[in-house]
Order: sequence, then structure tokens, then C-alpha cells
Amino acid sequence: MKIATITKIEQLNPETKVLYLESREPLNFTGGNWILIRSNILKENPKDENDVLKRSYSICSSDRNQNKFTLIVKLINPDHVSGYLHSLKEGDTIQFTGPYGKEFRWFENDPIGRYLFIATHTGITAILGIMNSKFFSLKVNDFDLFWILPDADYNYFIPPEEIDNFIENIPSYEMEFSIIPEDTNYFSQISHLLKHYDGIFIAGKKDIINEFEKRINKEKVLLRTEYFF
Ligand SMILES: Cc1cc2nc3c(=O)[nH]c(=O)nc-3n(C[C@H](O)[C@H](O)[C@H](O)COP(=O)(O)OP(=O)(O)OC[C@H]3O[C@@H](n4cnc5c(N)ncnc54)[C@H](O)[C@@H]3O)c2cc1C
Repeated sequence: MKIATITKIEQLNPETKVLYLESREPLNFTGGNWILIRSNILKENPKDENDVLKRSYSICSSDRNQNKFTLIVKLINPDHVSGYLHSLKEGDTIQFTGPYGKEFRWFENDPIGRYLFIATHTGITAILGIMNSKFFSLKVNDFDLFWILPDADYNYFIPPEEIDNFIENIPSYEMEFSIIPEDTNYFSQISHLLKHYDGIFIAGKKDIINEFEKRINKEKVLLRTEYFF
């Protein structure tokens, strides 16, 4: 089990907290990876006192820094792990294993070119990890970023006007992105573009990702997906 200390907490809105963490040991993660956090909450029918709830959280800060990293957590269930993480204070520690994530990441031989990033809901954290990775500047000539959010609720997670604060290597004048409400026909806005990219990364809500997967020709376009829920 690894340990990291919370050095700072920022509350972005009532349901969203940013945890800035520091680990003595380097994490050895690459952009897109996640860690599995162990809470202090016992499972419903625990086998023993160590049988506690654990959940995954994507590292959204850059893999250039292996000791200091950032997680952004939406409060989903106050009695479960997101509630536990929201209850922590500066100076507290978290216990975790990882990093994990063999597929949703960059690889040395990925093509250089035009990329599409699609985040749905909290999946923006994994997309931030990919965009903050040192590989981004080596691989990406041009990109588009779409963020599908429930019902135009712009305060759902990271406030869109604060996204720039979590992007580490892209000048803010280049950081344009589109927010698409989930209840609109987002496919009509995005699907005709899919063939114009060399690679596509999608993270977040499984049923939305599955719909994109059906429409992307994986023989022609590199596709990487990460399901959150
Ligand atoms: C690879 C991976 C990376 C993740 N990274 C992050 C992250 O960076 N930040 C973050 O906030 N969460 C992230 N999650 C989700 C996280 O692991 C938990 O599922 C979430 O915090 C809820 O956990 P809980 O124990 O509080 O509630 P639970 O009781 O486990 O959750 C209740 C239900 O809510 C669902 N759920 C989870 N997330 C959402 C959501 N956004 N909207 C609606 N329903 C949801 C769960 O699937 C579950 O069915 C990630 C999940 C995965 C698999």
C-alpha cells in the first residue's frame, strides 16, 4: 500500500474538491493512469477489518512530476469513497495502490497528428491526464476537445472557466473546447468529424463511450477509452 499526503484542498463547487497530493516515493505513472484509493469504510458484509471500500481516481496532473500529483473528486455518495475523500483535511494521508491503466495512455509509437479528446462527465480528469502528459507535445499537432455534461449543468464538476488552471502545457489561447449537453444530439455535432483524426481518446460514461466506439473505424483511427461508470 502506498501513501500520499494532502498538501492542499480546493473546493471548486459544493460537490467538487481538488486534492493536491505529495508522495515521498515517485508514483511512476504516465498520463491517463489512475490509482485505487482505500477508504476507512467497511464493505457491507466485510470478511475482516481490512475489507474496506476502494475506488479508482485518475491522476489529472502532469506525469512530468512523479511526486506531486492532483486528483479532482466529485461527491457522488457521502457514505462511500467520494464522501470519505471529501471529508479529508490538509495534512491527512491517503492509502492507495497503483498506478493502473495499461490501455488509456500514450505509447512511443503513437502517430503524430490530429487528436480528438472526448470527456463525458467526470471523465475530464483522465483526459486532463492525457493532455498534461509529456507525450502530448510530442504527438499532438492539432486537437479538439469536447466535454459532454448532463443537461447543460456547467457547475456539474470542474467549472469550465477553471479548466485552464488544470492544463499544464498548452497555452490558454490554444485551449478552446466545446461543452455539449448530454440531452442534445451530441452525435450529430461530433460524429461527422470522427474520421478526420489520427487518434481519439474518450473517457467517462460507459454508454456514451460505447456509442462512439460503434461509429469509429478502429482500423483507421487510434482509439483509447476509459470507463468511469
Ligand atoms: C478508471 C476510473 C477513474 C476514475 N476517476 C475519477 C476521478 O478522477 N474523479 C471522480 O470524481 N471520480 C472518478 N471515478 C469514479 C470513482 O471511482 C467512483 O466511482 C466515484 O467517486 C463514486 O464512488 P463512491 O464510493 O462515492 O460511490 P458509489 O456508491 O460507488 O457510487 C454510486 C454509483 O455512482 C456511480 N458513479 C460514479 N461516478 C459517477 C458520476 N460521475 N456520475 C454519476 N454516477 C457516478 C457509480 O458507478 C455507482 O454506480 C473514476 C472511476 C474509474 C473506473
